[in-house]
Amino acid sequence: MILVSACLLGHRTRYDGGSNDIALLMEQANHTQFITFCPEIMGGLPTPRPAAEITSGSGDDVLIGQSTVLDKNGKDVTSFFICGAEKSAQLTEKYNITAAILKQRSPSCGSLKIYDGTFSHRTKPGMGVTAAMLHKLGIPLYSEEDITPEQLQKLLK
Ligand code: SF4
Repeated sequence: MILVSACLLGHRTRYDGGSNDIALLMEQANHTQFITFCPEIMGGLPTPRPAAEITSGSGDDVLIGQSTVLDKNGKDVTSFFICGAEKSAQLTEKYNITAAILKQRSPSCGSLKIYDGTFSHRTKPGMGVTAAMLHKLGIPLYSEEDITPEQLQKLLK
C-alpha cells in the first residue's frame, strides 16, 4: 500500500483550505493501493489554519527536540506536527506501507526541500516532520514533483 498526501488527490486539507491537485495521481485516486492521509489534520490541526514552518534545521531536528514548528502568528505548533508524524508511522504498520508520495516543500510532507522558516516562500534542503519519520522507518519517499508515470505504475503493481 502507498501513502499519498491528501492534498495531492484533491482533498482540501491545505492550510488555506485548498488542495494541490496532481492529474497523474488523481487519475488513480480510487486505486485500492492508495491510503490518503494528511498528517497535519491527523495531528489535530484544523483547516484552514495559519501557515506554519520549521524554524531551523529540518524535520529530523523537530523529532529529536532540537527545533520547533511555529505558525505565522508565532504560535508553537510543534506538538501537532509530531503527533501527525507519529500517527503516520502507525499507518505504515497498519497498512503495510511500502512507499509514500508526499507534497514537496511542506513542513510535514516535504521530502527533499522545505520552506526555510522565514515565511518568505524561500526553501532550503530538508525534510518535513512526517517525511523524516517515514524516512527513519525506511519507507521510500516520492514527491509530486519527481514521480514519473513509469514509477507510479511500478508502485501500483
Ligand atoms: S500536511 Fe501534507 S497532506 Fe496535509 S495539506 Fe500539508 S502537504 Fe498536504
